[in-house]
Amino acid sequence: MRGKDIVLDGASVMFGSFTAVHPTDLKIEAGEFFSILGPSGCGKTTILRMLSGFLQPTEGEVLIGGEPMTGIGPSKRPTALIFQNLALFPLMTVWENVAFGLEMRGWSKPKRRERALELLATVELTDHADKTPAELSGGQRQRVAIARALAVEPAVLLLDEPLSALDLKLRQHMRAELKQIQKATGITFVYITHDQGEALTMSDRVAVMNQGRIEQVGTADHIYSAPANSFVASFVGENNLLHGEIAEINGDYALLAAPQGRFRARNAHGLNLGDKAMLFVRPERMQIVANGEATENTMAAKFLRRDLEGPFANLFVRCNGGEFAIHQTNLAEASASHPEDLTVTFPADAAIVMAEGILADE
Ligand code: ATP
Repeated sequence: MRGKDIVLDGASVMFGSFTAVHPTDLKIEAGEFFSILGPSGCGKTTILRMLSGFLQPTEGEVLIGGEPMTGIGPSKRPTALIFQNLALFPLMTVWENVAFGLEMRGWSKPKRRERALELLATVELTDHADKTPAELSGGQRQRVAIARALAVEPAVLLLDEPLSALDLKLRQHMRAELKQIQKATGITFVYITHDQGEALTMSDRVAVMNQGRIEQVGTADHIYSAPANSFVASFVGENNLLHGEIAEINGDYALLAAPQGRFRARNAHGLNLGDKAMLFVRPERMQIVANGEATENTMAAKFLRRDLEGPFANLFVRCNGGEFAIHQTNLAEASASHPEDLTVTFPADAAIVMAEGILADE
């Protein structure tokens, strides 16, 4: 099996006067594990329906492997689709479910069974070939659905929140399995999710979407460390947020005057003195000041609470109306007791400033 690349060339979708997907240019590479991440209703499924052929773009076009897909229906495309709702056939055995698409293509029964068993070996279900779906666990049923989708040798596998019905442990296990199957087959995966953990851990690249627009495309590292705008910064991962006004600019660094103090941060480009702006800093980059060693980016805060999560702790403090999280990964530090009044700090290069803009609700 081999993946194909996908191009959205100015593709948009309107439902009446409502724009579900604004004109979008996007290239997904052949053999890539590509995720589309965004809140409910942002247009993820609409993009997937365009790729699968269940929906035609209102403007622009979709190309798969360089071929324009305009007017080509779902069954004629080199794509297969896996939904959250797996829709296995309950009265067929596992192998018959996997071979279903081959029967439609006129394969003989012995050849169908042989091929189904090969695919069941790929998803480690050989021993379950003659059971019915009801006799399998949720994760095993998920793997049958994957094997069934792979049977028709798609160049592109489209997955719409395929793990969201599974419990946490199984979901984590299936993430690794999906990644492994993708690598082994070389198929292009387009994976839709609103779960950032899923998108960031499995994907070669992620597109972050909001209100029908792709806000940023990049590797998980890039999106986490260099968010393109306030929506991405607030949607992906945890962030502490300060609101204020730009009081100084020095090259890439700006000084933000906020109710909690004055703070230096990078990413000043495009900002001017007096602009209303916000500063983002990750909880793992915020620290409690010991022995008064920090000289800049400090704020006097009141201890609120500490949540222990195994070997880590999330400590929460309050300062001038704002609540801030400090992620502690050092066990000794995380279990030390704290006075009610403390000073917290963060390095200027760990913080970014941006013009006031849209934030994710979460
Ligand atoms: P979720 O994670 O909740 O599935 P999503 O990001 O996949 O959300 P879409 O299903 O793509 O979102 O929907 C995007 C927007 O388009 C939503 O506001 C939705 O209500 C709207 N929409 C989707 N399908 C139709 C339709 N057939 N007619 C009218 N509006 C639609």
